[in-house]
Amino acid sequence: MSKRDTVRNLFNEFLRSHDARITNETWKKQSEEFRAFWRDKIMASGSSYSDNELNRIIQILDVKGRRDPNDDHVEGAAFVQIYQGDWENIFSGIKGNPEVKEKLNKILTSNDDSSIINAINELQRINPVKKLTCISAVVINDLLFAYNPDKYTSVMSLFERNHIIDYFDLGDSSELEEKSYGESIVESNKLVVSLGRTYGLQASARTQAEFLYSRGVKNLWREGDPYSSEIIGAIAFIKFGDIPQVYSDEYIDEFRRGEWDHWNTPKDYMRGAPGILLLYDPDRKGITIQAEVTNIKKQGSGNFPYKNAIDPDSVIIFDPPISRETIRNVAGLESFARGQTPKYNLKRHMFDDLMNNYNGKLISRVRSGQSGHKQYSLQKDDDGIKIIGDGVDPQTGEAVVQTRLFQSAFRNSILKLFDHKCLFCDIDSDLLLVAAHIKPFSADHSSAGDFANGLALCHIHHSLFDKGFISIKDGAVIPSKGLISTESDFLNEQYNELSRLSYVNLPRGEKSEKYLKWHYNNVFDHGI
Ligand SMILES: [Zn+2]
Repeated sequence: MSKRDTVRNLFNEFLRSHDARITNETWKKQSEEFRAFWRDKIMASGSSYSDNELNRIIQILDVKGRRDPNDDHVEGAAFVQIYQGDWENIFSGIKGNPEVKEKLNKILTSNDDSSIINAINELQRINPVKKLTCISAVVINDLLFAYNPDKYTSVMSLFERNHIIDYFDLGDSSELEEKSYGESIVESNKLVVSLGRTYGLQASARTQAEFLYSRGVKNLWREGDPYSSEIIGAIAFIKFGDIPQVYSDEYIDEFRRGEWDHWNTPKDYMRGAPGILLLYDPDRKGITIQAEVTNIKKQGSGNFPYKNAIDPDSVIIFDPPISRETIRNVAGLESFARGQTPKYNLKRHMFDDLMNNYNGKLISRVRSGQSGHKQYSLQKDDDGIKIIGDGVDPQTGEAVVQTRLFQSAFRNSILKLFDHKCLFCDIDSDLLLVAAHIKPFSADHSSAGDFANGLALCHIHHSLFDKGFISIKDGAVIPSKGLISTESDFLNEQYNELSRLSYVNLPRGEKSEKYLKWHYNNVFDHGI
């Protein structure tokens, strides 16, 4: 069978379980909503948007957008690997900057490709809002699609577009890589959308994109691609030439300038990834620096012809380093640094685990336009990790407080481990669940990030557990007699219900045992 026939057959198969008419209606409606938001809440002078209004727009842009169970159903455009907080920053960045607003407005509303391309390139050059012009272009592509779903594909990442263009013979992706950011965005869109014409598929851009990501089709064009969407970056070993270690001022200066000349990540290695780069220093036996690679430029030839552009505001120094032992405790990295491998794929869960298990007391963060390293202290609580800085930002004059970092990683992981359900009852809404520590942070800083020390509990059972009215011993639920010595019918009933529960299954099994023992001995109300 020719490729053309295969693709057409797959498409007909896809249409059997997919109503293209509903898809088109949905996006007509959602696009109108997005346009109205853009016009009335972003562009209109003196306007503002509420958290709820923005959340809804983020849900349209991103299937992982924060969702209230009471919200109307929204069909997210794609899984774009942009955190909720980043989306919020992107929109407040756009809103607060008239130049960016105007340029983006031109990009969204113009019909003339060359002026769209110019405006995108100018936006990338001034690079005013973090992630807005990221290397994979997912944010710009997402906005373009939401504004005009008839014209633009919802295949958001330029890297994925390249795979599709190559696999379906729609053009030459290596030519695109030589072009400007704006040209790549506009031209890759045209090529991806030409799929329908090339193969005779009668379908809108959105339906085509859904087809491309459907079962059995996605594997075709991604076959052999080691950079699955789960991979968010790389851990690279750096010990090259004369540079003795990763904290050298020379490095830091380069990071602050946003360009790292000493070494570079081969372009292929970052394909499909937004590009978190963790640097492992073999001398110190640990990860010392985290940076976000925003662009990789080719310059000259040789073994390492690429140069990394780094977002200076993204640079974080781990001092002390994230130790090799901590790294090896992460699933998938058990044999880290045992062989010759100079680089590792960084998967999202690995990143979350690393950050949760890191027990450094201080992180200094390099900020652009500022001399010296700013000190931030690391604080862990039930919601994860926050970086607290008490300095004053020289640019805005505002106190820098609570630089958000991974605060939801522990919570997310625990809720997932417990299947988004309270351990003791049927409550199964994230809204009502807490990722609780068995042994609290105040009693033991070092195990705050250990998933074996976490339980998913509803607020009521969290409260009862923390106050010692419930514990777990040898896998059995033990309610305290304290519950029936009160006059509360509700608590009396809790005693009965918890007594009926008997054994619970903990996802981390025996690893949680030491924490539960501590809880039983130190917190549980043994009564009289
Ligand atoms: Zn509960």
